[in-house]
Amino acid sequence: MLLALLLVAAAVPPDVARHLVGGALSDGVAYARLRDLTDTIGPRLSGSPGAEAAVQWALKKFQQDGLSVRLEPVKVPHWVRGEESGEILPAPGIVGHRLALTALGNSVGGTASAEVVEARSLAELSALGPAARGKIVFFNHTMSKPDDYGRFVEMRSHGPSAAARVGAVAVLLRSLATASLRTPHTGMTSYDADAGQVPAAAVSTEDADLIDRLLQRGPVRVSLSLGCRMLPDADSANVVADVRGRERPDEVVLLGAHLDSWDLGTGANDDGAGVVMVMEAGRLIGSLRQRPRRTVRVVLFMNEENGLAGGKAYAAAHRAELGKHVAGLEADSGAGRPLAIRLRAGDGAGALLAPWIAPLESLGIQLEAGDAGGADLGPMDPASVPLVRVHTDGTHYFDIHHSAADTFDKIDPAELAKNAAATAMVAYALAEMPDVLPRAAPRPPRDNQAAPRPAAH
Ligand SMILES: [Zn+2]
Repeated sequence: MLLALLLVAAAVPPDVARHLVGGALSDGVAYARLRDLTDTIGPRLSGSPGAEAAVQWALKKFQQDGLSVRLEPVKVPHWVRGEESGEILPAPGIVGHRLALTALGNSVGGTASAEVVEARSLAELSALGPAARGKIVFFNHTMSKPDDYGRFVEMRSHGPSAAARVGAVAVLLRSLATASLRTPHTGMTSYDADAGQVPAAAVSTEDADLIDRLLQRGPVRVSLSLGCRMLPDADSANVVADVRGRERPDEVVLLGAHLDSWDLGTGANDDGAGVVMVMEAGRLIGSLRQRPRRTVRVVLFMNEENGLAGGKAYAAAHRAELGKHVAGLEADSGAGRPLAIRLRAGDGAGALLAPWIAPLESLGIQLEAGDAGGADLGPMDPASVPLVRVHTDGTHYFDIHHSAADTFDKIDPAELAKNAAATAMVAYALAEMPDVLPRAAPRPPRDNQAAPRPAAH
C-alpha cells in the first residue's frame, strides 16, 4: 500500500503538477482569450470573415506561446443566413403571431405559405404520407434534458429530406433545447442526394407550444421567408500547433476543439471554451522546464458545425501517422464543472493512466467508466486512437446551444480554469507516461449527425 502511494506520488513531479494545474487555475489566460475571441472576433461560421479572423488570431497566440504552429488547408461549405422571418397567419378567431425562428444551417432559402401539419418523429411523418403534401411539416418533440438531444436530432438532420419526399413545402422544427427565452436554436441539416430540398427553420420552444395548442383548435397556416443560401466552397484552415516531444516526437497526443461556431451567438460555449482550454494546455505544457516525452499537438478544427471538413481533412492529411497518434482528446462540451476523466481505449488503459492524473484529485476529478469521443476525431476512427475526455456537467449546455444566447457572459471563469487544468494534466500524462494506452477494437461506422458521439454536439 505504502509502495503504491509512493509510486502514485512519484508519477508526476510536484513542480510539474503545480505548473500545469496551479497555472491554469491562477493565470486567467484561458478566460481572457475567450473574451477576446468572442467579443472582438465574434461569430465564426465557416467561410465567414469571423472564421478567417479566428484562424489568424489563433496562429498569433500559438506563436506568442512559442509553439510550432502551421495552417493546414481545408475547403469549407460557405453558407450565409440572410434575412429571415415567419408568422402564424391570422384566421377567423385567431390573431396572427410573429414567429421567433431561424434557418437550420445549410438550408436552402425560399418562401412558403401553407397549412401546418405536425409530426413527432420521422416515422410519424412517413405515416402521414399524402396528408403532408403541399403543407409545412412541423416537427415537435419533448426534449427536456441533455440526453434527449441524441433521440431527436434526426428530425433536424434528416427531417427536411423526409418532408420533401412526402411533397411538403417547408419544415419548422421545435428547437433542440432544454431552455428558452423565445430563442430559436439552429444546427446543421443535410439534404439527401435523392430528395428535393425544402426550406427548413427552427422555432423557439414557446412558439412550438403555441403552434401545437392552436392545432388542437383547428387548421393553422404559417408563412415564412428564409434568405439563406449556399455560396461556393471557401478556403479555410485547421490551426495545428505542436509542443515537440523530447524523446519520441513522432508519437502524438492530440488535443482538439473546433474554432468555427454558429453565427447567431458568439460561440462562447460551443466551442470557444474548448478552444481556449486546449490552447491553455498547449501553453502550459510548452512552458514546462522539460518538455514531455511525446509531442502534444493542439488542433483547432474548422467547420465542425456544418460539414466536418476540418476533421476529415486532418484525418486524410495525417493518415500515415495515425498509427503513431497515441491519444486524442476533444474539448467540445462547454465549460460546465469538470466531473471526471473518461476513456475509450483497450483493456488496462485506466490502470496505466490513473496514477498519472492523481494531481486532479484535488479538484475532485478521477477516472470513471464511460465513453469518449468527439465529432472532429470521428474520421480517425479506423485507426482506433485511444480517446480521452474531460467529462463536464452538461446540465445547462443545451439551454443556449446553437442560439443567440451562446455568449461570453455564460462562462464561469473558475470552471473554465478547472477544465483547462484537467486538460493540461491529462495531456501531460499521456505524453509523459512510459507506456502508451492500448487501443480498443475499431468503432463501427456511424452517422455523425444522427447519433452524436459523446462530447460531440
Ligand atoms: Zn461544438
